[in-house]
Amino acid sequence: MKHLAPRALIFASVVCGLFCRAAAAADDTLGYQTTPLIPGTTWHVHDGNRPQPRVVAPGASFSDGAAAPADAIVLFDGGNLAKWTGQGDRANWKVERGYMEVAPRAGSIRTRDRFADFQLHLEFATPAVVEGKGQGRGNSGILFNGIYEVQVLDSSDNPTYPDGQAGALYGQSPPLVNASRRPGQWQTLDIVFESPRWGPDQKLLKKANVTVIHNGVVLHHKKDFEGTTPHQANGNYDKPHAPEVFIELQDHGNPMRFRNVWVRKMGTYDIP
Ligand code: MG
Repeated sequence: MKHLAPRALIFASVVCGLFCRAAAAADDTLGYQTTPLIPGTTWHVHDGNRPQPRVVAPGASFSDGAAAPADAIVLFDGGNLAKWTGQGDRANWKVERGYMEVAPRAGSIRTRDRFADFQLHLEFATPAVVEGKGQGRGNSGILFNGIYEVQVLDSSDNPTYPDGQAGALYGQSPPLVNASRRPGQWQTLDIVFESPRWGPDQKLLKKANVTVIHNGVVLHHKKDFEGTTPHQANGNYDKPHAPEVFIELQDHGNPMRFRNVWVRKMGTYDIP
């Protein structure tokens, strides 16, 4: 390469860049490019060509088994699902050996109580026996009010569109890194969620935002949701709602497990 003039090098890299981009687009099997562009980015919703987040091996433990602080509301301690509801006003997931598990056709479950700005701790495990791939493997999600999803997925050696992998703000933002553990291993999620706010004239004053720590690794810090998180579409803030939201665990057809779920209302500075 040393006998190529700098201008020739630039030309070659431009041609290669164009070719590589076209080749990648033609060979895109991870996601979609027929979906709308995500506002403020050059990426389509679920764009398979978006860069894959760097893999970071998490430490052996972080908040695993974290005991609930004194002012926390324990949502699930391994006993029962009394704090949760679902189809027919019942959360019909399986409870055994200290965890809950998505049961076939049981549907998503949600907290009976609602919270505005809070700290959430939970632990999850994707199925130890790997079945399916991409979005079909170890899929669940933490949804706030059922409309703002932090994706839960088996993202251990499981390529998919980056805005749909573990910890993604679904359809909007990939996580900063991929800190997933192996299938079947327990993993921690520590999430701080702030609800959106609208003024009395229904004008949006503040977007929802989240900080997400996965297995001790920061995936997002005060990252705005750019609206709701639908599949293959851009979300919006067209429907104002109260700041108090329920927390939903998604049934996406995979036998996902959750345990040790608690939440703390964040409180306000200078107000005891
Ligand atoms: Mg999901």
